[in-house]
Amino acid sequence: NDFLKISGLSARIDDNGTPKEILRGLDLVLPKGEVHAIMGPNGSGKSTLSYVLAGREDYEVTVGEVTLDGADLLAMEPDERAAAGVFLAFQTPVELPGVNNATFLRTAVNAVRRARGEEELDAVAFLKAVRAETKRLHMSDEMLKRNVNVGFSGGEKKRNEVLQMRMLQPRLAILDETDSGLDIDALRVVADGVNSLRGPDFSALIITHHQRLLDYISPDRVHVMAKGRIIHSGGPEVARQLEAQGYAKYLTAEAAA
Ligand code: ADP
Ligand code: MG
Ligand code: MG
Repeated sequence: NDFLKISGLSARIDDNGTPKEILRGLDLVLPKGEVHAIMGPNGSGKSTLSYVLAGREDYEVTVGEVTLDGADLLAMEPDERAAAGVFLAFQTPVELPGVNNATFLRTAVNAVRRARGEEELDAVAFLKAVRAETKRLHMSDEMLKRNVNVGFSGGEKKRNEVLQMRMLQPRLAILDETDSGLDIDALRVVADGVNSLRGPDFSALIITHHQRLLDYISPDRVHVMAKGRIIHSGGPEVARQLEAQGYAKYLTAEAAA
């Protein structure tokens, strides 16, 4: 039941002509139906991990493997990853000027439905489904008519992200949260979105800098990340310890190892 399995993953980015190693032999197992958190100090490579899992091309995987339900995730194109049920929400949601939010969402939903062998949603069916979700999220339908994330506030971007996630019904959701800019309201929306999807066929990786989000999403496991690797894993109590004591304990243990 190793649904998402990351083994010895190292990745680098081209930093103005110099390769810069960011992930350094990262191991992580996320079983089916579980929600795990990754916490770590700024600069530890959390966002890089989410970009590598998304297949962003500026990152080069040098060694390691990532499998999803036994399939080689790294060999898949980004759209194939989406079709396989992977949903990624980034720290900075992408703005798409000139792209209508509803059209974008319907295209994404139908691509995934086609890949799953399900019937596509026509305009009427889509509108009905999306309106049920916007209502649930207390989002104005006006936001569907706007360009994707353009001029959206931080909270609106989060709502829009949760809307996408609920519409796509992923098997694996990876959320890179920029908690610092989020008010409690937005955190709750994200947490409710994740919690509403929890079940035997839904797994999630919640990447977060603060413990606050984990007051609302109770993770099955918490992984501590530093310098491009997971240096400690434990139960939900790890998040509370981090909140009280910070990362120092783990960082010194790692330096001594
Ligand atoms: P986190 O999300 O944990 O804060 P990041 O993945 O954003 O960490 O960054 C990890 C490290 O990689 C940091 O030292 C950061 O400066 C560096 N880094 C990230 N992206 C780039 C880039 N495009 N060019 C150069 N260095 C980068
Ligand atoms: Mg950062
Ligand atoms: Mg980050």
